[in-house]
Amino acid sequence: MKILLVDDSKAVAMMTTARLESFGHEVTHAADGLAAIAHFQRSVFDLILMDIEMPGMNGFETTTRIRALEGHEPWAWTPIIFVTATDTATNVVTAIEAGGDDFISKMAPESVLQAKMKAMSRIAALRARLAQANSKLQDQANRDGLTGLLNRRALDMQVDRLWDEAVRAAKPFSILMIDVDNFKKYNDHYGHLSGDDCLKTVAQSLAKTVKQAIDDKLVAETFVARFGGEEFCVVIPNSGNGVHLGLAMALVENLAELRIPHEKNANWGVVTISIGAACIDPAFGTLGPLFRQADELLYRAKDAGRNRVESN
Ligand code: GH3
Ligand code: MG
Ligand code: MG
Ligand code: MG
Repeated sequence: MKILLVDDSKAVAMMTTARLESFGHEVTHAADGLAAIAHFQRSVFDLILMDIEMPGMNGFETTTRIRALEGHEPWAWTPIIFVTATDTATNVVTAIEAGGDDFISKMAPESVLQAKMKAMSRIAALRARLAQANSKLQDQANRDGLTGLLNRRALDMQVDRLWDEAVRAAKPFSILMIDVDNFKKYNDHYGHLSGDDCLKTVAQSLAKTVKQAIDDKLVAETFVARFGGEEFCVVIPNSGNGVHLGLAMALVENLAELRIPHEKNANWGVVTISIGAACIDPAFGTLGPLFRQADELLYRAKDAGRNRVESN
């Protein structure tokens, strides 16, 4: 474990450090409360061993301050064990109230210290698994199950954040609304399961083209999401000089070039998409009308024969 040892006595600190290191732990020593808080803010620890009596800020106050700095997620809770010569009833109660988890006497035999460290190692492992599981869950909550792209929920959150930034930076902002052409006919002709596979391939193609544009430094912070059904959306913050039109055309061309058979798609014979590409200066608009404009442009692209981009 990574242990933060807080103790004003050099002698105690050296002895405890040697013992803990002999059990295989990594120890950082803080000689007072302020130093402990500074270490806590810089690194993540699996356990804090906290002296009570220290000049300046005592162990209880230091613990209260550390708890106030912690995040609200359950795994943000770093176990704190008070280490003291005087484990009176009042001290135990105050320690728990201050946010401490356990108590150990400075006189405790080595086997007791080792046993407590074993229990704390189990908690540290649990916290790590909880944090990992949560980050996986959060990722799943933001992804569309079929295509693996960001879902509508993630799109809504990200687009709001990027829009606020664009307003502050006064940079043009673009939305591409993308819709697969004659996709109902694709399902009717090839079956719904093939339709699903087709949507996955379309999603991969869109993601690849967006990644290429990012790698070529044409755009930044740009992402593609599944808007719903056979509709996708690309968000391009900071998109001056018609870069939104260039990217939209690349998306259309790269998909058509895959030549995925679609006999019922008008004259094209392969799977194609249509795109409405809308760009505005955030000083002269809002996000709602920008989406509506992209939608209108998409309808225009459909009316004009599909497999194309209409932009403003
Ligand atoms: P248009 O060119 O005008 O866009 O015609 P369209 O047939 O693509 O448009 P329409 O909105 O009539 O049909 C969309 C179809 O997309 C209908 C729906 O069954 C299908 N679809 C939506 N989500 C999925 C999905 O997850 N999997 C499959 N296989 N089909 C889906
Ligand atoms: Mg002390
Ligand atoms: Mg549609
Ligand atoms: Mg469609």
